[in-house]
Amino acid sequence: MSYSEDVLKMVTEKNADQPEFIQAVTEVLRSLSHVVDNDPKYQNASILERIVEPERVIIFRVPWVDDNGKVQVNRGFRVQFNSAIGPYKGGLRFQENVNLSIIKFLGFEQIFKNSLTGLPMGGGKGGSDFDAKGKSDREIMAFCQSFMTELYRHIGADTDVPAGDQGVGGREIGFMFGQYKRIRDVYEGVLTGKGLTYGGSLARTEATGYGLLYLTEALVKSKGDTMEGKTCIVSGSGNVAIYAIEKAYQMGARPVTCSDKNGWVYDPDGIDLAALKEIKEVKRARLSTYTDYRPNAEYHDVNFKERTGKGVWTIKGDIGLPCATQNEVLLEDVRQFVAGGGKYYAEGANMPTSPDAIEYLQANGVFYVPGKAANAGGVATSGLEMSQNSMRYGWSFEEVDAKLKDIMVNIFKNIDETARKYGAENDYVTGANIAGFVKVADAMIAQGVV
Ligand code: NDP
Repeated sequence: MSYSEDVLKMVTEKNADQPEFIQAVTEVLRSLSHVVDNDPKYQNASILERIVEPERVIIFRVPWVDDNGKVQVNRGFRVQFNSAIGPYKGGLRFQENVNLSIIKFLGFEQIFKNSLTGLPMGGGKGGSDFDAKGKSDREIMAFCQSFMTELYRHIGADTDVPAGDQGVGGREIGFMFGQYKRIRDVYEGVLTGKGLTYGGSLARTEATGYGLLYLTEALVKSKGDTMEGKTCIVSGSGNVAIYAIEKAYQMGARPVTCSDKNGWVYDPDGIDLAALKEIKEVKRARLSTYTDYRPNAEYHDVNFKERTGKGVWTIKGDIGLPCATQNEVLLEDVRQFVAGGGKYYAEGANMPTSPDAIEYLQANGVFYVPGKAANAGGVATSGLEMSQNSMRYGWSFEEVDAKLKDIMVNIFKNIDETARKYGAENDYVTGANIAGFVKVADAMIAQGVV
């Protein structure tokens, strides 16, 4: 058995109760075989065995009091996966289904994503099984303060810098930053995604969606094609989806779909961005209300768990941009995308596409870019927020946006060239995994057995 297969077997046995983590590790290790199975330096240093094991896993109790005076208890996580190239960096996710497997898969992906940005950031991720839906602002604050009352001792501007993810936006970051500052009595960039009045970066809100489109444009151009007039199939309707739709319009493309946990919208005239922002950012309402704004659009109620073959992917389009959550796109969905003429596919969400669906896309000539490359714009801009905090200075929107674009175009160039170098032209999974890995692995070797 090859070195990479050997390690994969070990990981699968050791983490049998963590399916998402095994899925993420399988994808990465399979594409690393080109590098690690032919170069003894990685095996001699047991780099794979080390890179799949988090440096530290923290699990803690989060007690808080609800509006009825009842004590509630959630479980908090922080996985500090790898600090070879910089302080741990990665978001916090508050969602009822959060568990160790999901946080480990996200933290593992983050190592390679952060490396691809070219910025000095290690990989980490955290969160809680806390569900914000239906909670008052006071309850959210009580939860966030309790969460930080434990987390503060493990993080810091030069140690570990969390950010937002699903369920953690500006409001939650604000409450956690306030509590950190109060306990530690230091004003430092310990969290990113902060509000603009207290150290946040301009363009951070837009960064993941905009970055996704900058990378997609670089991909499309590399094939001698253009974004102008392209129909985009978008899933999700949160932070990533909204700003992906905004930038797609700015590039002359036409996004026609979006979705939430209850259903999806097809608007043949193109998604009404102002209406979408009002529904999701202002009213925090369901997508089912979209047709109040646009009577000609279609809304389809679908239980997400039964969505395969029924959702946004039934609509014909040139570019697929999944922006909701992990494993949201299955084989039946991509069959429809391909049958509808889909040509490009870049992931805004983390691991949204199942392994057999990825294989189908690649086998059918779709140019597929995995999330760790395509959605790196969010963490890249978080890295820029850290730089601005350290300098005690702030760049303009245009400056940050220009740096973001540069980073995304460079990521595409890097994964494209790496894929070619290893004889895997157009295989951007291989390109992204190898390019992200080599930098981290070489840093680990240089730093000795730690
Ligand atoms: P949000 O919480 O803002 O939005 C998520 C969207 O996806 C919402 O429309 C939500 O629906 C929908 N969704 C979530 N879970 C499910 C589910 N199980 N079934 C169907 N729809 C679902 O999150 P973001 O936009 O920030 O994140 C989306 C994805 O992008 C995640 O995978 C995240 O990890 C990834 N990502 C985010 C980055 C960022 O900067 N925000 C950076 C890099 C990656 P509803 O409105 O009903 O909740």
